[in-house]
Amino acid sequence: MLETVPYTIIDRCRACHAPSSLLIPALEMDPMPLAGQFCISRKEAYDAVSMPLSWIICERCGLVQVLEDVNDRALFKHYNYASSTVGGLVRHFEQFACILAESYENSEPAFLEIGCNDGVLLNKLPATWTKCGVDPSDVARTTHESASDAAYELVNKPFTSTLVDRKQWTGKWDVISGSNCLAHISDLRDVFEGVASALRPNGEFWIEVHDLDALLDGSQWDTIYHEHKAEWSLDALTNCLGTLGFERISFERIPMHGGALRCRFKKTGEKKYLQGTTDTYLPKLEKLSLAYHRRNEHPTVRTLRSAVKNGQRIAAFGAAGRANVYLNQMVDLTFTWIVDESPLRIGKFIPCVGTPIVDPSSLDQEAPKKCLITAWNYKDDIIRKNPNYPGDWLTAFPIHQES
Ligand SMILES: [Zn+2]
Repeated sequence: MLETVPYTIIDRCRACHAPSSLLIPALEMDPMPLAGQFCISRKEAYDAVSMPLSWIICERCGLVQVLEDVNDRALFKHYNYASSTVGGLVRHFEQFACILAESYENSEPAFLEIGCNDGVLLNKLPATWTKCGVDPSDVARTTHESASDAAYELVNKPFTSTLVDRKQWTGKWDVISGSNCLAHISDLRDVFEGVASALRPNGEFWIEVHDLDALLDGSQWDTIYHEHKAEWSLDALTNCLGTLGFERISFERIPMHGGALRCRFKKTGEKKYLQGTTDTYLPKLEKLSLAYHRRNEHPTVRTLRSAVKNGQRIAAFGAAGRANVYLNQMVDLTFTWIVDESPLRIGKFIPCVGTPIVDPSSLDQEAPKKCLITAWNYKDDIIRKNPNYPGDWLTAFPIHQES
């Protein structure tokens, strides 16, 4: 049976609730299946549903976001992403846990994490802290259920202001964090209001988000997909949280996921007005659109295409969301297979294009002689862990254009 994926067109900004008349079109991509979907058979892959995919920027708060909003239930049903299976991410969270532990070394805070996934951060925080994870995904539930001594309480629901009320969490938490979860939320305004209510006065909110500026600098159009509903710049984030009485006390740019922001906010209660940021970002978005529309002219694509023309097979490495986007936006490049290390994905197929996902042992002497690293943000790890691959490693990102 052909599955339908429900989606709607947003009629207001997810972060500041500005009306649709203030949402400016920025990029229209070819239709895409859900990038987090991996199919159990080739037939299911060919039957997967594609949806339009467009990017817009809010003229009022500057948040860049996807116009088409996929129903959260459909989105999380296909969520096969266990953070602890990605080596680079595990190291990232070890480091983040150290930073948090140092920041609160003289206290034992009540700590809540939005989007805790398989507990990759919570398990590394000091045992004396009160810890809670809020995450609606199956991955969060099954890992928590199978852990005999889970270090944290799990609420297997989306974080909303209604949940905060229902749990009577007003003013309860000292510290709230969210790593990479803000991209998946439909009503960000509601989540921020929930955080503002759940934190005690002067409580702190740590956010790690993919950095719009890093995406734009490298023209990373392969990170644009329905699951990434919003893409934050430092300005837009500071803007939106400022209106709810948060002050940014520090930030840093970190290499996670091809470029991210780690920001620390304090709930001071002093509300600020929004400042426009679209004048800065519209020209940069135009440049991204140009890189996307010229994607067939990229040197790596030419190399792959000429290999195929000469009768060679080509492969890819890293079957995450980025790969799903790339393979579905480059449909005339047929990859024999794509390697992945995650047992959740090996044996499955990329939706629509039907590329099989295989384990790293496939990179033997019989392997295709050209392998595109679709998980290019883990390129060094991948090359180091597969020293015997006899062919050429290639990447297609980041793209640095002449201005
Ligand atoms: Zn807005």
